[in-house]
Amino acid sequence: MTRFFDPGLSALEPYVPGEQPKGIDNLIKLNTNESPYPPCPAAVQALGRRQAEDLRLYPDPACSGLVDAIAGFYGVHTDQVVTGNGSDELLAFLFRGFCPGGAVFADVTYGFYPVFAAMFQRPVTIVPLREDFTLAPADYASKTGTVFIANPNAPTGLALALDQIREVLEQDRDRLVVIDEAYVDFGARSAVPLVRDYDNLVVVQTFSKSRQLAGARLAFAISNPALAAELNTLKFSFNPYSVNRAALAAGEAAMRDREYFDKTRRAIMSDREYTAESLRAMGFHVLESKANFIFAAPNGISAGDYFAALRQRGIIVRYWPDSPRIRDYLRITIGTHDQMASLIRATEEILREVN
Ligand SMILES: *Cc1c(COP(=O)(O)O)cnc(C)c1O
Repeated sequence: MTRFFDPGLSALEPYVPGEQPKGIDNLIKLNTNESPYPPCPAAVQALGRRQAEDLRLYPDPACSGLVDAIAGFYGVHTDQVVTGNGSDELLAFLFRGFCPGGAVFADVTYGFYPVFAAMFQRPVTIVPLREDFTLAPADYASKTGTVFIANPNAPTGLALALDQIREVLEQDRDRLVVIDEAYVDFGARSAVPLVRDYDNLVVVQTFSKSRQLAGARLAFAISNPALAAELNTLKFSFNPYSVNRAALAAGEAAMRDREYFDKTRRAIMSDREYTAESLRAMGFHVLESKANFIFAAPNGISAGDYFAALRQRGIIVRYWPDSPRIRDYLRITIGTHDQMASLIRATEEILREVN
């Protein structure tokens, strides 16, 4: 540590993103939950020459076109929508501005929550998931601080029903609950409709997983208008232009193309079931995922050896060897049908070799 670095941050351990290898042409990249499909045609079109030339101009700080499209999609008012540079930016604002009493989240969940808590020096209450990785709303009843729940959860893929989220909201209407819906479009129910009844709810969604725009860095929060205004106060106190022109144009196009959105997420859900069933048939323990990935414990081989053997065949998945509760599992992003067929073939080969 240099003598210039804030001693209060000396223990900060940054988030470790999944590997983004340089040449991915010969690899099957199933490690960071991106979509295997390109953005919708209108989004690709929106990134043309005209758009490039307009980059000399600052983007619209109100993000009006995009906010209209999001509000229209969810049937909320535009003053309930705040856009951000990925959910990570919005989550950072929530940890910075909305956690005066600390943050509450599960032991096995999105790895960025503890990092944000450390960065903004928020006390943390960890609520362990149950033995089967389910989240029990009752476990939150006595907890104070702002609650962060990824629904579906990462890396398990397990989803809560809306009634369970309502239960957490009801436990204390003076306690804020943030529902991180990065994966909600793959089969879970969104909590957005609950925003009308609960002013202690913020829902965060991203364009990174179900709308093919991870590289654009784009996300949004939906809440009651008063809380949205406060989120905007933070945004305009930090970087009013955090959503750039290319992201605005592509994001609006992606939000308006429901057909492509539905087609791609249905393909992912169908290939998820195909992959889960195929691995279960080989004796793997595969959790019931409602996300664009599965969480699977291999059978007849250790998770570490399976990870390495896949890697050797050019298939990259995610593995957390240093987290005792999940070190027997791999998280496998759902790619195209062909990619998943390759994964299954590779797995059959690997199991044959070790037996
Ligand atoms: C991927 C992910 C995010 C981050 O999304 P970005 O919008 O790309 O920053 C947020 N929460 C969870 C649970 C995620 O898995």
